[in-house]
Amino acid sequence: MNTTRRQFLASSAGVAALGLTGNLAFLPSAQAADLRKKGHYSYKIGDIEVISIYDGVWQNPGFGAIAKGVAEDDVKAALTKAGQTTEYIPIEFAFTVIKSAGKTILLDGGTGAQLAPTAGLAAKGGLAAAGITPDMVDTVIVSHMHPDHIFGLMEKETNAQVYPNAEIMVNETEYNFWTDPAIIPKLPERRQGLAKRIQATFPNWKNVTLFNGDKELVPGVNSVESFGHAPGHTSIRISSNGDDVTLIGDAIIVPALFLANLDWQLAFDADKDQATATRKAIVEQAIADNMMIGGYHFGFPNAGKIEKDGNSHVFVPAVV
Ligand SMILES: [Zn+2]
Repeated sequence: MNTTRRQFLASSAGVAALGLTGNLAFLPSAQAADLRKKGHYSYKIGDIEVISIYDGVWQNPGFGAIAKGVAEDDVKAALTKAGQTTEYIPIEFAFTVIKSAGKTILLDGGTGAQLAPTAGLAAKGGLAAAGITPDMVDTVIVSHMHPDHIFGLMEKETNAQVYPNAEIMVNETEYNFWTDPAIIPKLPERRQGLAKRIQATFPNWKNVTLFNGDKELVPGVNSVESFGHAPGHTSIRISSNGDDVTLIGDAIIVPALFLANLDWQLAFDADKDQATATRKAIVEQAIADNMMIGGYHFGFPNAGKIEKDGNSHVFVPAVV
């Protein structure tokens, strides 16, 4: 059993209880469209409030490039099977605000309206509409340091810190990878600008906390290593009073493609074999334990259940 699988199998006792309480309802897609328009929704995990913030979509045209060795037609067929458009691959964005023990915690920062014209809704007023202003944010937990997760933490032209007074919490492996000056020339060209921006901003943040392994970062909020997509990619398990939800970041992106086809390898995964093993372990545990799961790229709403669908799997969103 690999490390990732063991970690994911270790602790989800509260999830079954969540299913039994019935406090989450699966919603019809028309309601999902309304929710997307509203831009946010919240639910409780025990005493903790979890707010999902919609940040728009990247209309990715790369049908033949997204999954290693998978033909364009097979990608389109998978989107069709899931009832999605085949005009583009919809890569949706949603990040999370957690209110626990009097603290306001951001899990990732969104695209910051710096990635695609159809994304960045949070920076364009969506976060404020959910009642969150920058001065309220005590802590920012970063799942990994890809652009769509951290551009919202820094201003476009200046790299100025959007939350200068917040504590930044990042897995140490992830942080050290991106902040090493020697990494820049070794990265593919499309990633070099990202590393430069990270190095211009994060080392100057006044309060950066690095963590390793599976730790309680703030009350009821634990890191869960789920490496592969990025060197130190981290999931977050929120637990309170026997309920929990595990926000898996980019361990699975676009369920229609990579949840439905667990052997497909995502072209953006840093270590494809490790990422594939992580993905399978998460799905195995989610099914076995009837877990609540949230994904950064699952569409909106972005928390729900993974269910079996013949030999495949689907994501079934839920809201309160
Ligand atoms: Zn992402």
